Amino acid sequence: MEYRYLGRSGLKISELTYGNWITHASQVGNDVATQCVRAALDVGITSFDTADTYANTAAEVVLGDALASERRESLEIFTKVYWATGPQGANDGGLSRKHIMESINGSLRRLKTDYVDLYQAHRFDSETPLEETMLAFADVVRSGKALYIGVSEWTADQIRAGRVLADDLGIHLISNQPEYSMLWRVIDDEVVPTSRDLGVSQIVFSPLAQGILTGKYLPGQAPPAGSRATDTNGGADFISRWMKDDVLQRVQGLAPIAAEAGLSLAQLGVAWVLQNQNVASAIIGASRPEQVKENVSAVGVKLDADQLSRIDEVLGD
Ligand code: NDP
Repeated sequence: MEYRYLGRSGLKISELTYGNWITHASQVGNDVATQCVRAALDVGITSFDTADTYANTAAEVVLGDALASERRESLEIFTKVYWATGPQGANDGGLSRKHIMESINGSLRRLKTDYVDLYQAHRFDSETPLEETMLAFADVVRSGKALYIGVSEWTADQIRAGRVLADDLGIHLISNQPEYSMLWRVIDDEVVPTSRDLGVSQIVFSPLAQGILTGKYLPGQAPPAGSRATDTNGGADFISRWMKDDVLQRVQGLAPIAAEAGLSLAQLGVAWVLQNQNVASAIIGASRPEQVKENVSAVGVKLDADQLSRIDEVLGD
């Protein structure tokens, strides 16, 4: 495993982060979830990402249990706030001071820890004054319940505005968590250049486009049993946007590039996002421990200009 600094801070995180959306307390049972966390720890992953909204808070419980016996100082634990969990009362969502202050306490209780390393705004809240949100985050940090602040899927302008306020308050807004993969490169245009200027890193989600970039979904064929595309608890709905024959066909076209590089398609996909130096870590999901063991070999891979341009040609970028 290799480690990168998160934004302009002294915090190092592992280049792969293990994330438990869709899987824990939903697609896989607790035994498999624990085996996946164990596999992540065994390959040197120290960063773990969850959110209060995953499996309606139950995913935080599973992750907290799986990490409970680990040395806390050796872990970086990230969670998020924004969506309502449980009752949909007027104040049960968003980034108001009230929702943030109540949510952090619930997350810490479920994760069985006194603090999270990174507390992230899961989305931007255009209804709440940003000053209120950032002051609430500052108070969470000052109370010791979170060490650093991050955001997720914010635009370049939103990241800049948040960062300016955070600086004024003396807290560290050091990361954004966007979707990023060979198939989804939206952040390249504005978010990455702005973040680089501001000292903010990306912790990217769905680097394999939810499994599409592993090449296991073949055009015109039924998805493999047990895969996300067959998960009736929500996984199949989320991945459906990629389940199109032309996309699956183009992904198959990457196979010779991966083979020549001595990589599986999954390893090529993870390696690709890590070529971007503004990416501090790729958050990988897994429904079985073998996937973690396979994907970790992407760490340290250098793709050259020829390989990168052939990938672009195949994918049509
Ligand atoms: P990935 O793109 O890494 O997809 C992971 C899934 O792909 C696995 O669960 C598995 O699904 C399949 N897979 C992975 N490796 C292999 C392999 N080697 N061979 C075959 N199949 C493989 O990421 P996710 O979409 O899971 O997202 C990762 C994390 O990002 C989440 O857990 C969460 O922490 C974060 N996230 C954040 C969001 C946000 O809004 N901030 C939104 C979404 C995710 P299967 O076996 O079931 O097919």
